[in-house]
Amino acid sequence: MNMRSTTADRTHADKRLAALLKQAPIEFARAVYGINDYASGRTDTMAAREVARAHRQGMPLTEERAEQRARAYLPTVGQEHCPRCWVVYGHKTPLRFREAEGERPEVAACNVCGAEYATSSD
Ligand SMILES: [Zn+2]
Repeated sequence: MNMRSTTADRTHADKRLAALLKQAPIEFARAVYGINDYASGRTDTMAAREVARAHRQGMPLTEERAEQRARAYLPTVGQEHCPRCWVVYGHKTPLRFREAEGERPEVAACNVCGAEYATSSD
C-alpha cells in the first residue's frame, strides 16, 4: 500500500468535490434564467427547455425549489452526481469522469442532461 498515492487520490477526490460544489449556485442562477425565459415565452434557450421538460415530467421547477436543492447539493467521493440534474430535476445522476489529457483538463460529464464540468482546475 503506497501511502503517498493514497493521499494524492484523496486530495484529487476532494478537489473534484470542491469543483462540483461550486457549480451548484451556478446551476441555480442558470435555472432562474430558465424559469424567467420559460415564463416570458422565450422557450428556445437551453435553460428554458430544461424547465419545460421538468414541467412535463410533473415536477415544475420554481425558484424556491431550485434554491433549496442548490443549497442541499452534497456530492460525496464515489457518489458524485450531476449538479444540473439535481437542481433542475431533483435527480441524482452519476457523473462520469474523463481524465485529463494533454492540455485538456479533467471533466465530469453527465450523459442525461449533457452538462460538463471541469474538475481539475483550482
Ligand atoms: Zn445532468
